[in-house]
Amino acid sequence: MRRLRKVKILATLGPASSDEGTIQKLHEAGADLFRINMSHSSHDMMRTLIERIRNVEKRCGHPIGILADLQGPKLRVGKFAEGSAQLVAGQTFTLDQDETPGDSTRAQLPHPEIFDAVQPGHRLLIDDGRLHLKAVSCDGKSIVCTVVSGTKISDRKGVSLPDSTLGVSALTPKDHLDLDAVLATDDVDWVALSFIQRPEDIAEVRKIARSRVGLMAKIEKPQAIERIDEIIELSDALMVARGDLGVEMPIESVPGLQKQLTRACRRAGKPVVVATQMLESMITAPVPTRAEVSDVATAVFEGADAIMLSAESAAGDYPVEAVSTMAAIARKVETDPNYTGIMQAQRSEPEATGADAISLAARQIAETLKLSAIVCYTSSGTTGMRTSRERPQVPIIALSPVIQTARRLSVVWGLHCVVTEDAHDLDDMVDRACRIVVREEFGKPGDRVIISAGVPLGTPGATNMLRIAYIGSDGLTGI
Ligand code: PGA
Ligand code: MN
Repeated sequence: MRRLRKVKILATLGPASSDEGTIQKLHEAGADLFRINMSHSSHDMMRTLIERIRNVEKRCGHPIGILADLQGPKLRVGKFAEGSAQLVAGQTFTLDQDETPGDSTRAQLPHPEIFDAVQPGHRLLIDDGRLHLKAVSCDGKSIVCTVVSGTKISDRKGVSLPDSTLGVSALTPKDHLDLDAVLATDDVDWVALSFIQRPEDIAEVRKIARSRVGLMAKIEKPQAIERIDEIIELSDALMVARGDLGVEMPIESVPGLQKQLTRACRRAGKPVVVATQMLESMITAPVPTRAEVSDVATAVFEGADAIMLSAESAAGDYPVEAVSTMAAIARKVETDPNYTGIMQAQRSEPEATGADAISLAARQIAETLKLSAIVCYTSSGTTGMRTSRERPQVPIIALSPVIQTARRLSVVWGLHCVVTEDAHDLDDMVDRACRIVVREEFGKPGDRVIISAGVPLGTPGATNMLRIAYIGSDGLTGI
């Protein structure tokens, strides 16, 4: 199965898409990997979804990535006596630690650990920013606020504290349990960490997860932006989590941040996912708005590795249509006359490593000679990711003997991943590459490809070989 598209599509599963038939349809429509949202999935549901995704993968014979997204320290107010309360601008409203149901003067904020972090003047944004409170006094047990704007507060609404650096760990007790369950499956490729604030948050999870999963840092807090370079350094991938980011920071700063984060990841050669509200109106309509089409197109023009669907595929009325719409927009952008030039303009210098020097040379040779594909042997995934960082115009086929590597690379721009055992020698390496190029419909006898690898195979980080090969008439190498 060959996709005619470089950017990858990450689709969130949920009630609208949890049966195996729909997962298969989403994959056929273009979903390259799936997100299981641990905020809403029980451990049983997670295991069931993994099993169904793996069944689809077996049938289609193409590696599929699975991302488990941990909820993180999402703060919420408690409940109200009447389910909600009406407020007016200018009034006083108190958040405290009293379990008594709330009313129009006070509510519980059941997170004792944050009361010391809020200072007078700090903002408290509730219900995605619909209610804006300002702290006037805090005594460690309660926070007295004035209502700046907004009129309603109701049960369990989310609270953002964009001005306060919280002493909370990025892993809550629930996240610890979820992470243990995720790792126990031994079948999840990526774990996303929500609301991280500092590099230490990633290090903490790394200690537990080690290299069993890739760690994707969700950037949705201003504190994370402040230390973004260190966070990128410690993460395996980033998500521009525009939903919460647009609450925690002025919403008008999100597009610029999206560009900055995408470029920083491209420079670092780490995959970046652009997420949230990409085709929001397709939750209830079979067609998107013009603005949404433009938003998806922008992320593709920016060179994002993957674009994500949230409620559109998890809980909407048109999950499959949302994926195929995204795929259609991506294809159109990638064949636009401006696309290649934009990709080139954002290219960064290679680092002084064998992998980068070889990846740059492979791209130049492939483009100069108009080769059919770049084939890279990659056991850890590094050669695949460094080749993708070059954003070559020709297709990239990543061959790996490790199924986990192939699945993890499913989020990376432009990589068509195939699992194949390591070659015995150089001839076998060339033959195998040519056969796979033909089988996967990237080339035909008479075409040429370029092969990159680290010889001897299986030595991570030792990319040191380039070879141009003809595909012979029998589908093997001719020269
Ligand atoms: P969420 O993360 O969907 O888990 O909230 C993405 C975002 O905040 O944009
Ligand atoms: Mn979020």
